[in-house]
This record gives sequence, C-alpha cells and structure tokens, in this order.
Amino acid sequence: MDQEIRTQVVVVGAGNAGLSAAVAARQGGADVVVLEKAPKEHRGGNSALTVHMLFAYDGAEDLKPLLADLSPEVLSRMNERVYGYTKEQYYDNIMNVTEGQSEPELARILVDRSYETVQWMRGLGHLWAPTFDNPISANAVSFDGGGFEMSNRWFAAFEKLGGTVHYDTQAVDLFQDDKGKVTGVRALGPHGFVNVHANVVIMAAGSFESNAEMRARYLGPLWDTVKLRGTPFNTGEGLQMAMNIGALPNGSWSSCHSSPQDANRPAFDYPGENKTGDFWSRYSYPYSVMVNHNGKRFVDEGETWRGLTYAKMGRAILAQPRGQAFQIFDAKHRELDVIRGYDKAEGFKSDTLEGLAEQLGIQDIPAFMATMHEYNNAVQPGEFGAFRPDGVSAVGIEPPRRNWALKFDKPPFEGFPVVCGMTFCYGGLKTTTTCQVTHTMDRPIPGLYAVGEMLGGLWHWNYPSGGGMMAGAVFGRIAGTHAAVEALA
Ligand SMILES: Cc1cc2nc3c(=O)[nH]c(=O)nc-3n(C[C@H](O)[C@H](O)[C@H](O)COP(=O)(O)OP(=O)(O)OC[C@H]3O[C@@H](n4cnc5c(N)ncnc54)[C@H](O)[C@@H]3O)c2cc1C
Repeated sequence: MDQEIRTQVVVVGAGNAGLSAAVAARQGGADVVVLEKAPKEHRGGNSALTVHMLFAYDGAEDLKPLLADLSPEVLSRMNERVYGYTKEQYYDNIMNVTEGQSEPELARILVDRSYETVQWMRGLGHLWAPTFDNPISANAVSFDGGGFEMSNRWFAAFEKLGGTVHYDTQAVDLFQDDKGKVTGVRALGPHGFVNVHANVVIMAAGSFESNAEMRARYLGPLWDTVKLRGTPFNTGEGLQMAMNIGALPNGSWSSCHSSPQDANRPAFDYPGENKTGDFWSRYSYPYSVMVNHNGKRFVDEGETWRGLTYAKMGRAILAQPRGQAFQIFDAKHRELDVIRGYDKAEGFKSDTLEGLAEQLGIQDIPAFMATMHEYNNAVQPGEFGAFRPDGVSAVGIEPPRRNWALKFDKPPFEGFPVVCGMTFCYGGLKTTTTCQVTHTMDRPIPGLYAVGEMLGGLWHWNYPSGGGMMAGAVFGRIAGTHAAVEALA
C-alpha cells in the first residue's frame, strides 16, 4: 500500500532554489516537507557544485558583513580593489547578454532583491569568502567552502527550523482536486510509492539538462552527446509533470548554458567536499587563442569579461569539427599568472607552435601556423591588464579580438584540449512574479509554484555568471513566503 504523508507545503528538489523556498515557507509558519531524488550522499543538486551568486552592492562595506575572513590584510585589499556592482550594471548586463530577451519584470526583481536576499541568507548562517584577486573572474566574493558548504548550510538551516527532507524520493505526478487546484505530489521513494498531500506544491526539480533525449529534442543535434557539468538527476520530470496538467512553457527552450570543459572530464559530476564544478572548467580562454581541428579561430576569445561570455562558449565549441577545440597559451601567460585552475589538466607543452600543434593532434597544422602568424601580426600595442577588459586588441582578423591580445613569441607554448560541457537549460515554465505557475489558459494554477531552473523567462542564449544561484535564492524566497501564506489561509 502507498505511504501517505500530509503537510502544508511540499517542495520538490533540494537545490538552492528548493531550499530557499523551503526555509522561507517554514519561516512563514507552514509545515514543510522536501522531496529529493538523489540519495543523501549526493544531495544538493547542481547548486552544490557552484562557486558564487551575483548580487548588486554598493562597495566593500556591503561585502564585509558576509565574509568569514575579516583579516586586516583582506580588508585593506578590499578597500583598494572592490568598487561595487550597481543594480543598473547588473540589469544592463542581463539585458545585453540575453540580447534584450530576458523578461524585464523578472530581471528587475532579481536585481532589486539580490542584496537583501544575500543578507537574509547571511542571517541563516551562510558565509562568503573573498575572491577579488582572481583575474579570470570578476566576482568579489564566493561561497565560503564552495557550493558544497553552501548546500550544507541550507540543509542545516532548514532542519533547524524543523523541516523534513525525504531523500531517494522522486516526484512522478501532481495531484489535483476537481477544481484544478494542485493538492500534492505522488513520488517514488526507497520503499515504494508515497502520496504527499499538501496545500501548496513548489517545484524546484531543475531542468532537463541530464536527459539526453530531451536535449536532442529541444536543443538540437549533437546535444545528446555532450558531457554534463552537473549531477545526473535533473532529467526534466518536474517540467513534464507540470506541463501534463497544463503549465505553460516559457523562455528559451532551444538554448542553454554550456561552457569550455577539459576534454577528459567525466560524463557527469556529484557534489563533493573540497571540490566545485569548476574543477574541470577551462576558463582562462579569454587570454588564449582558441582554435579548432582545422587550425582556425572561431570566436572572439577576449570579447569582454569572462563571466559574460563563458556560458555561450560551450555551444561554439560543440559546433566545431569533432566538437573539440584547443586553448593555446604563450609563456607570458604563465608569468602573468592568468592560467588559473589548470593544474590537473592534461596539457601539452612545446618550444615551437608547430610542435605543440602536433602534440595536440590538430588536423591542419599549416592552417594553424597561418592563423597564429596572422594573429601575431594583428596584435596592437597596449598595456595588458588581467583584471579588466583592457582594450588590447588584434585588428583586421576574423573573428576580431577585442581584449587581452598578446603576441605568441615566448616559448614554451602550452595547449589544452577542451569540449562543450552542459550546465543547465534555459527553458522553463511561465509564472507570475510571485512564482505561481501559469496555465496555458492564461491564469495561475492554484497551489503550484516553480523556482530555480524550472522558472523560465530570465535567460536566453547567454547568461551572466552567478545569475542562476541568485535567481534561485531570490525567487525561492519569494515563492516560499507566498506559499506559506496560501497554505495557511
Ligand atoms: C558545475 C556547475 C557549476 C555552476 N556554477 C555556478 C555558479 O558559480 N553560480 C551560479 O549562479 N550558477 C552556477 N551554476 C548553475 C546553477 O547550478 C543553477 O543555476 C542552480 O543550481 C539551479 O538551482 P536549482 O535549485 O534550480 O537546481 P539544482 O540545484 O540542480 O536542484 C534541483 C534538485 O532537484 C532534484 N530533482 C530533480 N528531479 C527531481 C524529482 N523528480 N523529484 C525530486 N527531486 C528532483 C535534483 O536531484 C536536485 O537536487 C553551475 C552549475 C554547474 C552544473
């Protein structure tokens, strides 16, 4: 016989968005149960593999209360190096990278409520660490202990408030009453089916990035073959369950977040201590020359800040012959310490560019040599600056090179093979601004909310680094707060 559970709010998925919602609903006075598909040892979703969340702030003073390490040295470097990130910059970045397609109302809420949400998280025990000395990232602060510790802090906060998590439990269906109101979730747990009856259901089950069939269906050819950067659990049932009862799909179902990854990375990842998902990321590409097997460049590697370009680089790499590319560095890049996080990468080194191309297995070596020759001739004089788009360009070449152009003239040269790594999908569900899921009949579905990757409409084509985690927390908190009111009414 099925097991029966009764609660006021049930949350499906225990990532950052689900736990933000669960904690907010608990703070609102509702009884909350969380269902999580992964076993406890792999809990936390993709959120547990992250590094940071992007929020607007006025300057170093806003960051200090968030930090675990407040040594005098950190404080003085912060005062020198941290300028702030205004709401307008954040909003403009979202609109620029999404080519104006992000829904303005959602983007505005995300930006306006970002810092207060971070303060709320700090009050719940979350902590940040300074990262403003990392040239490949513009983040001033990141989660202390990475996404793994951030995730542990969410579970601790939720359990302290008396919430319950059922692991190894996959939601499979939504219950509705005869008026169409959602009244709970059917799930498959370790001992069989469980019927969870609730006044409100909050869906936070990620997107369909871990489902090869859905990737091929919505993103197109070759996407079924890509490696995942995240966990294998986000296989799209959350979206399907909601659409089965009439939820309206929204946002960009044909585009996704994908980035340059080590060619040897595993097919997926689990959260783990002392590890973030960036272990396999090869994010120093803005300083490199990136070529394909035909020896040709195919993107402006140094278009602008890394955080505004990396999420579209995976797609560009997948479109190359064999879905592979090579990041090439000069000895000066090592001296400038801009090749960060590559210590465990299988790299190749040679005193000549030709020798390096042979080691990397680039198919058309004469074309590669011509590319490098042309590039070197195109580099303009200027002052290299690792920490900002420096305007040091290479002109008259295709694609252009806007920043961080250095001549390749100092051996040894280094090269790293990279592939496309799938992060998450942008397609989700249409919701109100309080995260209530919208029906295809253009009215809210009573009792159903969606947050995190499941909330569609924010991201299209590209994305600003840190936006996913911030959106999960901002909208998770909003959904949880409203769900508690609805559940207790
Ligand atoms: C390696 C990596 C690094 C990243 N780094 C960053 C970063 O630094 N900053 C940033 O902003 N974003 C980053 N992202 C993106 C970020 O992870 C997502 O935007 C964010 O985690 C989404 O949160 P979520 O809660 O919606 O999803 P998740 O954290 O993935 O949580 C979804 C949860 O739902 C569970 N689930 C799935 N289906 C079911 C079901 N049927 N029943 C019950 N449970 C289910 C899953 O097991 C999972 O625990 C990164 C992603 C990856 C993969």
